[in-house]
Amino acid sequence: MSKLRFQALHDIHQRFKVEFNSKEKPVDLFRKNVFGDKAMRQYLSTVSYESVQNAINKGDNIGRITADSIATGMKTWALEKGATHYTHWFQPLTGATAEKHDAFFEITTDGHVIDKFDGAQLAQQEPDASSFPNGGIRNTFEARGYTAWDPTSPAFIYDKTLCIPTVFVAYTGEALDYKTPLLKALNAIDVAATNVAHYFNKNVSKVTATLGWEQEFFLIDKSLAAARPDITLTGRTLLGHASAKGQQLEDHYFGSIPSRVLVYLKELEQESLQLGIPVKTRHNEVAPNQFEIAPVYEEANLAVDHNALLMDVMEKIAQRHHFKVLFHEKPFAGVNGSGKHNNWSLATDKGVNLLSPGSTPMKNLQFLTFFINTIKAVHTHEELLRASIASASNDYRLGANEAPPSIISVFIGSQLTRVLDELEKVTDGKLSPQEKTDLKLNVIGKIPEILLDNTDRNRTSPFAFTGNKFEFRAVGSSANCASPMTVLNAIVAQQLIDFKSSVDALIEGKKMKKDDAIFNVLREYIKDSKSIRFEGDGYGAAWEKEAKKRKISNNKNTVEALKAKVSASSIHIFENLSIMNKVEIQARYEIELEEYVKRIQIESRVLGDIARNHIIPTAIRYQNVLIDNVKGLKEIYGEEYTAFAKAQTLIIKIISEKVAIVNALILDMTDTRRKANVLELEKRAKYYAEEVIAFFNTIRKHCDKLELLVEDELWPLPKYRELLFVN
Ligand code: ADP
Ligand code: MG
Repeated sequence: MSKLRFQALHDIHQRFKVEFNSKEKPVDLFRKNVFGDKAMRQYLSTVSYESVQNAINKGDNIGRITADSIATGMKTWALEKGATHYTHWFQPLTGATAEKHDAFFEITTDGHVIDKFDGAQLAQQEPDASSFPNGGIRNTFEARGYTAWDPTSPAFIYDKTLCIPTVFVAYTGEALDYKTPLLKALNAIDVAATNVAHYFNKNVSKVTATLGWEQEFFLIDKSLAAARPDITLTGRTLLGHASAKGQQLEDHYFGSIPSRVLVYLKELEQESLQLGIPVKTRHNEVAPNQFEIAPVYEEANLAVDHNALLMDVMEKIAQRHHFKVLFHEKPFAGVNGSGKHNNWSLATDKGVNLLSPGSTPMKNLQFLTFFINTIKAVHTHEELLRASIASASNDYRLGANEAPPSIISVFIGSQLTRVLDELEKVTDGKLSPQEKTDLKLNVIGKIPEILLDNTDRNRTSPFAFTGNKFEFRAVGSSANCASPMTVLNAIVAQQLIDFKSSVDALIEGKKMKKDDAIFNVLREYIKDSKSIRFEGDGYGAAWEKEAKKRKISNNKNTVEALKAKVSASSIHIFENLSIMNKVEIQARYEIELEEYVKRIQIESRVLGDIARNHIIPTAIRYQNVLIDNVKGLKEIYGEEYTAFAKAQTLIIKIISEKVAIVNALILDMTDTRRKANVLELEKRAKYYAEEVIAFFNTIRKHCDKLELLVEDELWPLPKYRELLFVN
């Protein structure tokens, strides 16, 4: 056994005595380190407080003098809490969060030491950000991207650093991060949904998108993970034979959380609560050593920040507990992968969830309006929605038999299906009074009751209605939620704009009553978007065939999927809603393709290295043991030795064969990479997706066979049974 593997296994039980006990109650901890409403009231003047509120609620600008005064209040609060540094905290397109710390500490020209933090430092910072991905927007020689304060997401203190959530843009104005387009999409949905909500309630003045994510992840012992170059460098196992026991006993899901994990989760929860992340739920997931953590939902921008922050905190706290967190969507073959369900809805400033049925027919017509418009939006833009969750790592999960397929469809349950079937039959043109009464009493009026009984949840659907929200399940566990949330809110915003103009046209042009007009437009939407609705088994092969018939896309890999991001209809929607311009869209497309290529290239290299440096030498070493044994048998038995050496000679032969195959495949794969690397970006990405990846499973298969043959003591890599069951 390699020293690393031996040491890792040997040490586990002695080293992990990390204790964590907290006497503080969650209600006392919550937002302790957040410059939120409570802190602002205490540390800001009334004028400053109100200007922050107006910036949050109405998007008003904050003047320079007010910014100075806010900065002073924030600094006082932060220093009292022991902070020494501040940073603009942002989410560049690398997927990780970024920060550059500056100390408050400053020496004045006359030699005094002071703590300095003013409005200018609060509002803007210029990180030397030349090496963040920018898709060619920003010339690296100029390196002048800047970050700008986002007052809608409150500042917080982490690790003695005051973190100020910011957007990140090029000096020419193009967005270089996830947050900028998200904020614009959230603004678009606010305007569009508020206008539609006015059909039902004139007093609504704001609609916010809400997001509640569910974060799945694996926790692996740090020493075991460190002994695996593939986990260390790619976040997943590139090889490894399945453990004799996997998830087949179904004994992990919702089982009792292992005590070492629980200690970790407790500390994580305490830290999260202080940072204002409203974590609420924790449980075991289906695969061994797989877990989930979920918060109470929040306004989408804040929820996105909180997810990014949580992922960061999870990794930091894991260090102390000797765990490695795997956010990869498919770290282990043969057991479930990880997702990040995005529960999404729309809420008015009057406290109404627009995707929740109400107590009156009018409220339910409002519910149906938003419900059907969402389905229609998904139908029209299914390919863009698919593209929004595309990544090299999520490719390994989507379509694998326990994850949503790469086909987008909407599940609404049999009860709501019946409601839509009824609505589809409403009269073309003006509805008779009798028909309206019938509808109100027997169809729309019954929705709240039937939803109470909405038990037929379909776990295989990538986009499911779950009673009072849609649950976008195809999102990958390592993703930044901003990407799917930008697209989802944008397409629904566009859809609501179109809806309103159709309804208004009927009201004004055809002199229809408002209700009649709404029923008429919804009826057409139900018909038009029928093909996106699917209630059956999303994992089955039959659905693939059926989807093809329905002309729904099935883009199986990222390279295929991403094309939708630069299609004419996507560009139109983003430009029309002022979310991104063509340059920004194209830049993002290139960044994602490049990232894809790099990830697969790294995996391919790592796989080659492990096979060459670990697997082949180990196999040969074991083969030598067998050869010595056979030689010994010959010494003892002379020519009769063959009778005693049958198994040994067979294994010697198999090892030689496998070693030869693996070696040849690696050479071939390296050659294929070379061919790919000279191609221009789109072709290169396609070549990686189709030709390079094609080697992975074959190489793995032969290496995994060797794992079964070779003596356990000699095997250098921690095995699946150790990675998945030791904790
Ligand atoms: P499950 O889907 O596992 O049954 P829940 O329905 O309780 O669990 O909720 C799952 C997630 O959905 C949680 O993060 C929760 O906060 C979120 N959620 C609930 N209501 C909404 C809503 N109106 N908007 C957005 N997310 C919501
Ligand atoms: Mg859920």
